[in-house]
Amino acid sequence: MNNFYNSYFKVDTEKVVQNFYKVKEYIGPDTEIIPVIKGNCYGYGLVPMAKLFEERCHVSLIANAAMYEAVQLRQGGVKCDILIIGGIPQHLLHGAIEYDLQVPLFEAETAKRLNSLSASAGKKTKVHIKLETGMNRLGVRPGEDLSRLLELVKSLENLEVVGAYTHFATSTADYNDPFVLEQFARFKEGVAQIEDAGITLTYKHCCNSAAIAWFREAYGTHVRSCSSILGHMAMEDGREPIGLEEPLEIGAYITNIHSVSPGETIGYSRFFKVEKPMKVATLSIGFADGFYLKWMRGGGPVLISGVKTRFLGCCMDQSFADVTGIPCSLGQKAILIGRDGDQRITTWDMEQFCGNTFEYLYGTIGSRVERIYK
Ligand SMILES: *Cc1c(COP(=O)(O)O)cnc(C)c1O
Repeated sequence: MNNFYNSYFKVDTEKVVQNFYKVKEYIGPDTEIIPVIKGNCYGYGLVPMAKLFEERCHVSLIANAAMYEAVQLRQGGVKCDILIIGGIPQHLLHGAIEYDLQVPLFEAETAKRLNSLSASAGKKTKVHIKLETGMNRLGVRPGEDLSRLLELVKSLENLEVVGAYTHFATSTADYNDPFVLEQFARFKEGVAQIEDAGITLTYKHCCNSAAIAWFREAYGTHVRSCSSILGHMAMEDGREPIGLEEPLEIGAYITNIHSVSPGETIGYSRFFKVEKPMKVATLSIGFADGFYLKWMRGGGPVLISGVKTRFLGCCMDQSFADVTGIPCSLGQKAILIGRDGDQRITTWDMEQFCGNTFEYLYGTIGSRVERIYK
């Protein structure tokens, strides 16, 4: 940890654990949670969040989308099973064997390559068959394609099929979304086909956070979820049946306070034009921290001294906030996400303001916004 940070991303680990168990209670005793910690765990930090799930939530399987991050998890000392759910470049497949990772399988070339790599290492690699049901990203279609793959896999002694999964394209749209129902019907077809081929599936999983909210019949042995545990059920209209809590505060510091007069301008290209006497604070956070021009240049919210005010613009490492009429002092905090007195800015507010989902908004926050875990 580097304590000389200009801005921070503070995670309330207690709330994360509480959210985890609230979701667990909601889904019931027959289904387990696979935390999906892709994209630096949606900005929350990869290894610390994995360890939190491993040690405090006692999960046995964690998922990530990229080999790169899966290897980082192993290098960081994560011991539980790890499943890669994203596509893997062929030249990286040996990583699955070296680092003991479970991988998706949906076509023959990968099956053969993985099998021979596993055989040379004297190991068996665990695979989850990824079923194509409508997302058209990765997957094998139930029916003939799946039959052929199953036939091949039967002959490959160093592969072990342990799971089957698919991913819904529209689960955030509405409860009982018809396309999700269609996808689930195809998933069931694929699962039946795999089981009819004599394979026992330890893992059957297709629900993400939004589907957890409403699609009980689809829970399977496991659900794959992260948003919910981070306090979001991720329905597009904000519906959230569990009572989850946001475990996050993002903040920076005031590095200058100055007065400006009508006719003056602020920032590069004279970005903000001052039309009345104002007091402006310069803040220690900018777009190189992975924050969004739309927010910082578009008058997005920020809390200073318990007052909700607005950004006036941003540069690479610094930004400007309007503190006209707000008592404040050099060095004090400015809160971008979180509470200050009875004022609050939530991730949901941010999503609405920016017109992006938080996966995007937080997944791109840079590493020098120091992650703090309390
Ligand atoms: C991201 C992802 C998830 C988890 O989504 P949440 O909305 O965070 O629950 C599950 N499955 C796949 C394949 C994913 O890419």
